[in-house]
Amino acid sequence: MRHSRSVAVIGAGAGGLVSARELSCEGHHVVVFERNTQIGGTWVYSPEIESDDPNRTRVHSSLFNSLRTNIPRELMGVRDYPFVPREGKDRDQRRFPSHREVLKSLGNGGLNFDLKMGLLIMTFLMLWLFVLGIIPTLELQRFMGLIGGIDRWPGEQLHSHNYRDPESFRGKVVVLIGYSSSGTDISQELIEVAKEIHIARKSARTTKLLNTESIINNVSFHPMVESVRKDGTVVFQDGCVVSADVILHCTGYANVVSFPMFELQRNWVAGVLSNRIALPSKEEMLADVNAFYEELEAFGKAQASDP
Ligand SMILES: Cc1cc2nc3c(=O)[nH]c(=O)nc-3n(C[C@H](O)[C@H](O)[C@H](O)COP(=O)(O)OP(=O)(O)OC[C@H]3O[C@@H](n4cnc5c(N)ncnc54)[C@H](O)[C@@H]3O)c2cc1C
Repeated sequence: MRHSRSVAVIGAGAGGLVSARELSCEGHHVVVFERNTQIGGTWVYSPEIESDDPNRTRVHSSLFNSLRTNIPRELMGVRDYPFVPREGKDRDQRRFPSHREVLKSLGNGGLNFDLKMGLLIMTFLMLWLFVLGIIPTLELQRFMGLIGGIDRWPGEQLHSHNYRDPESFRGKVVVLIGYSSSGTDISQELIEVAKEIHIARKSARTTKLLNTESIINNVSFHPMVESVRKDGTVVFQDGCVVSADVILHCTGYANVVSFPMFELQRNWVAGVLSNRIALPSKEEMLADVNAFYEELEAFGKAQASDP
């Protein structure tokens, strides 16, 4: 027999909104808790950045001002609410639209259906619970490479989470670590303003093609950083040495999940909670986990994305 449960969803980003919708459609009673004053999660742009102070105020969003989606809009919708181009003065109809369009779509496109009022109340409540220290915060984990000698390096270093626009890099020599989505986007902006951009990338294939010698305008490609020195220089694994002002870690984030995947996962969870879907036995699940680990081991290691 199907069960209807009371479910609390924490966070009103795309994942939380899709969860709330799937749970609601399954017949559960849902309350969404959001600590921000606005729904949309990552897609709520903030010009603020974080300091290095461990007691700093956290800035949730990692978006930079000019960010456009890095996958086409067709892959950023869910079944009932496809992310289709909308008519209107301020709408961005491009296939890879700006982050502002994604936020508009989350707010207007129906994903927040009848949650608006509940969210307003809950947001207010959450703010108080945070002030009282009752609800802990969840943080998106950012990958920062460990670099030998970094404690004594006099330059500035930041993660792409704290990158907002290229202006503060004007005239500087920048070492950019990682050349996946953020690295490619940000380096293209920096070309216009930075004095030199040195891109360190992991992939053996691409470093063979584009070694230290290959220079495009003010950009050069290198293998990974070996170490940094207190005189401000950065040493790459091929022995090349560069005197740099900034190291920008475009090294990605943990737990980034796509919209269609949210929908499948949340539909499944909603079905498990209502007894529509039966879980396998504990033994079967453990056997599956072990088989997965064995498969990873057979490939040498857990595969991370190659910046
Ligand atoms: C720079 C960047 C670019 C990206 N570009 C794309 C793209 O082009 N296409 C794409 O499909 N995906 C992209 N993504 C992936 C993106 O993370 C997902 O699209 C999606 O927005 C993630 O949704 P989420 O709900 O899991 O997390 P988030 O959007 O991060 O939402 C989490 C929400 O939870 C709230 N919250 C956190 N802790 C608490 C708490 N303790 N109590 C209450 N509320 C809490 C936060 O305030 C936030 O509103 C990108 C991610 C990044 C970082």
